[in-house]
Formats: sequence, C-alpha cells, structure tokens
Amino acid sequence: MIRGGQLYRHRRDRARRTRRLMTYVAVAVVAAVVPASASAAGKQLWTSDALNSVANDVAGTTDMTVLSEDDPTEWAGFFPPGTDSENVLGFVALEYPPLYHEIFLDPYVYSTFGSWFSTGTPQGNEYAFSIAALALIHESFHWRLLSGDESTVNACALKYFPYYIAKDFGVPETVTQTTTGVVPVTTTKSVPVVHVKVVKRRVKVHGKWVVRTKRTTFTTYTTETTTTYEPGPVTSTVANPLFQTLVADAASFYMQQPPPYNAGTCTV
Ligand SMILES: [Zn+2]
Repeated sequence: MIRGGQLYRHRRDRARRTRRLMTYVAVAVVAAVVPASASAAGKQLWTSDALNSVANDVAGTTDMTVLSEDDPTEWAGFFPPGTDSENVLGFVALEYPPLYHEIFLDPYVYSTFGSWFSTGTPQGNEYAFSIAALALIHESFHWRLLSGDESTVNACALKYFPYYIAKDFGVPETVTQTTTGVVPVTTTKSVPVVHVKVVKRRVKVHGKWVVRTKRTTFTTYTTETTTTYEPGPVTSTVANPLFQTLVADAASFYMQQPPPYNAGTCTV
C-alpha cells in the first residue's frame, strides 16, 4: 500500500489543464510490477532530468526519479476507489521497494512544470508554480527524512522552499538593478610648479663686500586629481519580486492546507 507522501491541494485548479506535449520532457513507462491498489504498470508517466535533479538535491541522493502523470483518470487509478485523487498533488511509497526513490506527481503539477519548461520562468504562473515546487520539495523530503510524518515533512518543505527556489529553480533572492544615478568621475592631470632658486653671493664692489642675490626659476610637474559628479549607470542589489511572490504564495498555500499538513515543525 502507498504510505506517506501525499500532499493535498486544498484549492482547486486555477489553471485549466493543458496536456500538450512537453518538449523538454521524455516519456517513460513504468514497467515495475506493483500492487493493484497502486498500479503504475501501463500508465504513461513523464520524467525530466530537471525535476530529477531537484529531487536528488533535496533528498541528498543521486538516483531519484520523478514521475509525472498527465491524465487525471490514470492518476485516480493509483488510489483506492473513493480517494479524492484530484486533491492529491503527489505521493511516494516509502516501504514498497519497487518504487524506491520514486516520486509521483499529479496532472496539475505536471501541467504547471510543463508551462515552466516552455516559458523558462514561473512569471505569470506564480501561484501554481509555488504549489508545484512545494509538492516536489515535499515529496523529496519524505525520502530525505525517510518519514511519513506529513506535519514534519511539510514544515521542512516550507522552511527550505526559499533555499531550493533560489538554488534549483533559478529564482534568485536578489537581482542586480541598473539605474541612472550620479557617478564620480576622476580626472588626473599634470600641473606645472614653478620654483625659484635664490643664490646669494658676496661680491666686492668698489672695495666693499656686498651681497648679490640671483634668482633662477625651474619647473617641476605634479599630478592633480579632481573628482566631479556626472549622470551615469548605477548598479545595486535589490530584492527579487518574483522570489518574494513565490515564497509568499507557498506560505499562503501551506496555511490553507488541512492538519497535519499545516501544523508541523521542521527540526532539520
Ligand atoms: Zn507527504
């Protein structure tokens, strides 16, 4: 039986499911013989190197396989009759060896990551993306912690969501911004300095000693640095609005989930 690893979607789909073929995703048919109650045999699932590497990074493994289901009817077939499979975003089977280090994601997550692969950014689909990313991180934490405790696993998924969004999903916490500001312009020039050399000599004039002074000049050069302020490009590091939106969306989704999903603490 499937145990642990379910992440419930409290809110219903916002986006319509699109089942177009994802260019960057290769098809994989799970050949494993699994119990009838959790049969993956014959189902067409999708896998992607990008999602596998996220799962591996979160779980601290190298052999994780993320399998995404594109068909709600097939997805429902993973669960016992009567299961509200539309609200299950993903699952793992911690104690069923044929599904070792595998993560299953539902058609909503499949579709959301499909959009991400095709546009290259969560921009414009932030809320769905946050849910999908949280689901993948959540399922990966089941393997990392080898735990079916949904409260702890989901708390860890939320805690580390910002970290993995930046590290593995390509949404940095800060971005560099270039604006027009005032920039210092330093000019160095060579300045002549005239020196006067005074030579005093005693000379005899009409039998008397007098002092004669002779002045000669010579020039040396020194460098002079001046700083002026002119309009120019100024780069600064600022908070990334996309990152902030995703983190806020994940927190909001977490809060809307029923217990035990919204009620844990992460100890790692
Ligand atoms: Zn779970």
